[in-house]
Amino acid sequence: MGPRISVNSTYLRWFHEIEKALWSFFGLFGDLCGNCAEQTLKDLAAGERKGRDAWCCCMIDNQVHDNWESLNAVQSRTNREWYEAIRREKRVRGAGNGPCPALGEQGCRIKKCRPITCTTQLCSKMLVVLNDLGVVRGATHSPLQIEDLITLPDILPDLYGTKKGRTITQSDVDAYLSEVRRMKEKFAKALRARDQERQG
Ligand code: SF4
Ligand code: SF4
Repeated sequence: MGPRISVNSTYLRWFHEIEKALWSFFGLFGDLCGNCAEQTLKDLAAGERKGRDAWCCCMIDNQVHDNWESLNAVQSRTNREWYEAIRREKRVRGAGNGPCPALGEQGCRIKKCRPITCTTQLCSKMLVVLNDLGVVRGATHSPLQIEDLITLPDILPDLYGTKKGRTITQSDVDAYLSEVRRMKEKFAKALRARDQERQG
């Protein structure tokens, strides 16, 4: 049976533009994810069982299969063999549902249009960083989606094809992008101030 979710190429192009803007925001966390993955591998090798929030999300979650229907519909548009292309050959046993089959040595192997959660989630570690810098104020004990922290137009499910019935326009996309940019600037400014304080 073919995919039941139909996707619109303009919407996917917009989704990818937003995704890139979000990656650029998440890039400001620097080595956080790499260090987190390294620590998780050490913990797993040592047989330690820490709380869920302590571990690399891609190693304990499996967003590929959690979002199979929509992800497959989106990815199959450009490559029908996409799953074979990204899948890890050897699965090491992880914790929870993980590791995600798309997780490679250099991070996620899906280069475009990842599941929405992967692109919008701020884990507890990220929330601690943002709180420490005063970029946001709030609880850090469980992950949040970026739209829980800043007001963003709720357009990603429509762009990804998981919600239907609403027309999304370029101006909705521009509004989303400008809010993400604003948040990124605030974060970058706080990082610069912290670095200057450390140096001085
Ligand atoms: S998003 Fe958070 S939990 Fe996931 S790898 Fe990065 S630091 Fe770790
Ligand atoms: S799809 Fe990529 S980013 Fe999402 S959980 Fe899997 S490896 Fe991580």
